Amino acid sequence: PDALSVTDLRKRYGANEALKGVDLRVGEGELVGLLGPNGAGKSTLVKIACGLVGPSSGTAEVAGAKAGSAAANAALGYLAELFRFPDWLSADELLQLHQKLVGSRGGAAERRELLELVALGDVPDRRVGHMSKGMQQRLGIAQAMLGDPKLLLLDEPTSALDPAGRRTVRELLETLRGRGVAVLLNSHLLSEVELVCDRVIMIARGEVVAAGTPAELSHAG
Ligand code: ADP
Ligand code: ADP
Repeated sequence: PDALSVTDLRKRYGANEALKGVDLRVGEGELVGLLGPNGAGKSTLVKIACGLVGPSSGTAEVAGAKAGSAAANAALGYLAELFRFPDWLSADELLQLHQKLVGSRGGAAERRELLELVALGDVPDRRVGHMSKGMQQRLGIAQAMLGDPKLLLLDEPTSALDPAGRRTVRELLETLRGRGVAVLLNSHLLSEVELVCDRVIMIARGEVVAAGTPAELSHAG
């Protein structure tokens, strides 16, 4: 099944229609950018995908399961923009903490594999306070990957990074794709999205107003 499948999705808050019939799909291993100004409905879409709010009508499925169901949530990973981990935790401890919080049974093997995946395999004992922004971002992605999700929801994952850090994150997302992990990347900047994504979906005032490759959209203005 698709990592995310949304059909004729509508969400009303009182008289305010935040989503007005949105259709979108994120296929297995696809990197899709969700772009739109403040108030477009991006957060509402993410909240529905996570089951925090229900749609007024239409459907949303994550990895073939109804959004909000235990199966759908097990298939999701999430990382906020500008998150901040405690300085005093090592990379390995940070993952261990989150394993405990989510009840993961992956143990040391899962942590080692994820740290290697994000190119922190050589520094499992490095404390967050001694990591560059790029290393912290990669650690955040490793944390979001705990439990082997099919769809990662990433909020502006390169906004705090310099160009080299952005390239590294892009390479990491390419690696995830090789494992069949799809990414829906939330942003309000085409420049962030175009570096990383195969496809961009632009929403404004609750509707999809354009969709295509980054090149197609930047030429369209
Ligand atoms: P974005 O994330 O793109 O900035 P949102 O999904 O937060 O957009 O908001 C879409 C629209 O829905 C906005 O007009 C916003 O004010 C409204 N909205 C969002 N959440 C609520 C809510 N809980 N109650 C009422 N209106 C809301
Ligand atoms: P819902 O039960 O529809 O999910 P929420 O719990 O998200 O509603 O929000 C409760 C109330 O808080 C909303 O009815 C609205 O009055 C207010 N609210 C929350 N977020 C927003 C927002 N972004 N814009 C406007 N109003 C909001």
